[in-house]
Amino acid sequence: MFSKILIANRGEIALRIQRACRELGIKTVAVHSTADADAMHVRLADEAVCIGPPSSRDSYLNVAAILSAATITGADAIHPGYGFLSENADFAETVEAHGFAFIGPTGTHIRMMGDKITAKTTMQALGVPLVPGSDGALPDLEAARSVAAQVGYPVLIKAAAGGGGRGMKVARSADEIEEAWSVARTEARAAFGNDEVYLEKYLDRPRHIELQILADTHGNVVHFGERDCSLQRRHQKLLEEAGSPVLTAEERDAIGATATAALAKMGYRNAGTLEFLYQDGQFSFIEMNTRLQVEHPVTEMVCDVDLVREQIRIAAGQPLGYTQSDIRFSGHAIECRINAEDPDTFMPNPGTIGVYHPPGGLGVRIDSAIYSGYRVPPYYDSMIAKLIVHAPTRIEAINRMQRALDEFVIEGVKTVIPLHRRILADPEFRKGDYTIHWLERFVAAQN
Ligand code: ADP
Repeated sequence: MFSKILIANRGEIALRIQRACRELGIKTVAVHSTADADAMHVRLADEAVCIGPPSSRDSYLNVAAILSAATITGADAIHPGYGFLSENADFAETVEAHGFAFIGPTGTHIRMMGDKITAKTTMQALGVPLVPGSDGALPDLEAARSVAAQVGYPVLIKAAAGGGGRGMKVARSADEIEEAWSVARTEARAAFGNDEVYLEKYLDRPRHIELQILADTHGNVVHFGERDCSLQRRHQKLLEEAGSPVLTAEERDAIGATATAALAKMGYRNAGTLEFLYQDGQFSFIEMNTRLQVEHPVTEMVCDVDLVREQIRIAAGQPLGYTQSDIRFSGHAIECRINAEDPDTFMPNPGTIGVYHPPGGLGVRIDSAIYSGYRVPPYYDSMIAKLIVHAPTRIEAINRMQRALDEFVIEGVKTVIPLHRRILADPEFRKGDYTIHWLERFVAAQN
């Protein structure tokens, strides 16, 4: 087992990883920008190294500074968290080339899944169902027109290098394809420096359902069931549930068996998430995330597993020590992302936290790195806390979340808590009757 892990991240996820390390008896090294000198992840780490100025490019994405920090502190492994360098294949390979363990998959697998076209063709060859669309990249507009005519409008043009919902454009009819084609390419070029695009049938009422997988280095692959992340705004998740309100245990077992078999054949290692759109009882793979995800706690609550601890054990070469039939699902969990944003306009609202009183009680978990007097810096993601609840049934989890949100006091910055309260009170949401388009309409109807 490792004796010291460097955590190449900040905020709640840096703290989350530190907690797992501490329970395993592993020392932690925090890295931070000058803007984060007072951050909780710095205060609670065993050691901390400043790696650069506020801009992420010069600090949390600064590979040379991070490797130097690992060297001078004598760390033996690096955990990338999510975001930042977590899906950077070159980083994973550089970390290993310098003699540190990378707590994640191989660079080869990260690269393969980072290109969405390669990800789709790989998964298809392994028997995973896809959304109908182009076979690979579209060479030109004419190819886009002809695939669109085959699969039927509406269609979605998507960037091969896409992420964060950027480089994606819908064409509802043949009249719109030229514009969608050129806008998606322009956005993709600007955001990712790569204007390769592909085409998918645009599903009109799917749910976003993803599967959590763990694979050790001894050939064991298991899944921890699904998360329903359909509540999204601009393709950004806001509230997640485990399990999905619509999936049966048989459907979960079937897609789980397909996904774990595919990853076993690939020789995948560590944590990964397969994202699907689910409509009319059909799963269609859209992409794979080769890292820990923001919403992992809902899975931890229903499966009673510490996914970060498992990631660390796997990276240290330990076998999982259990099989699929040992994994049990108990109750229902919900996560609300608490962003420092205006709940009506979604404008980021950085500032200094005044009174801070997090909720507590049975089945309530907070993953956050903020505290009273903390200055939320304007340079990074606006998510300041994750509130997670667990209860025997979905409706009890909803009631518990409402109760927890009522107790939650965060003064000094605006947050999306009022929006979460409106969502949880909505009869359609309470019935579990929603798709990926529900939240946009809900927000539009409120304003
Ligand atoms: P990104 O990596 O940018 O997040 P994804 O491929 O994961 O892109 O898609 C993000 C979201 O966009 C999905 O969760 C879903 O809401 C929507 N989406 C993606 N593909 C389709 C599709 N074919 N039809 C309808 N919605 C889609």
